[in-house]
Amino acid sequence: MKKKIKGIARDALKFILEVSASSHPKEFAGMLYETDQVITDVDVPITQSSNVSAVMDLFVVPVNTHRVGSVHSHPSGALQPSDADIRMFMSTGDYHIIVGRPYEITSWACYDRVGNIRKLDVLDVDLE
Ligand code: ZN
Repeated sequence: MKKKIKGIARDALKFILEVSASSHPKEFAGMLYETDQVITDVDVPITQSSNVSAVMDLFVVPVNTHRVGSVHSHPSGALQPSDADIRMFMSTGDYHIIVGRPYEITSWACYDRVGNIRKLDVLDVDLE
């Protein structure tokens, strides 16, 4: 089921960048969720691992209809997805954010499920 997404809430993006920076030099990984077609939430596993695929295995849960994709960090700063990333993208949704060092507001990119870059607007919305 494809979901049309308008963008990501600026506060959600800031949260992702902050958590990624505080996880450094380890990778951070989580799942993205939408509310009213805007990505507003990040689900973070309790167990942290340097292996993103292992972290994603923790999300083998009943498919949440509000889940739209994934997010993870690249401590190296490279924003391109690896082959393993793309395999993970295919099974976890249509929107995949990779953030990288130095974790600034522009230190990220969004990809579709086959690893092509896709535009994702940053929106100013009020999160309850
Ligand atoms: Zn990666």
